[in-house]
Amino acid sequence: MDFENLKINCQCNGKMERITTNWRGIEVRGWRCMKCNEELIHPIDAQKALEIDRARKNDELTVKLRKVGKSNVVTVPQTLMEIENLKAGQLLKWGIKGKTMTLSP
Ligand SMILES: [Zn+2]
Repeated sequence: MDFENLKINCQCNGKMERITTNWRGIEVRGWRCMKCNEELIHPIDAQKALEIDRARKNDELTVKLRKVGKSNVVTVPQTLMEIENLKAGQLLKWGIKGKTMTLSP
């Protein structure tokens, strides 16, 4: 789907303009009707926002420990990358407290 060129008309037949709005503190793209102010969230962003919201509520994410060559690898879910604004190449610190390991920037 080409978001930039997508033209959407409101149910009221009003013209919709592209907006960036906030859904539970998560930035999402969408459209707003210039006539009745009805807002529509982009389906891809809506999906992403729901995942982020779910991850925040559970505050737990399950990943698998894998072996890649001689290294032991855990993946960082994309959702977490976005919530914490993590970037590939940045350094993270493991913290160990009893049986709990934490990973922090
Ligand atoms: Zn409308």
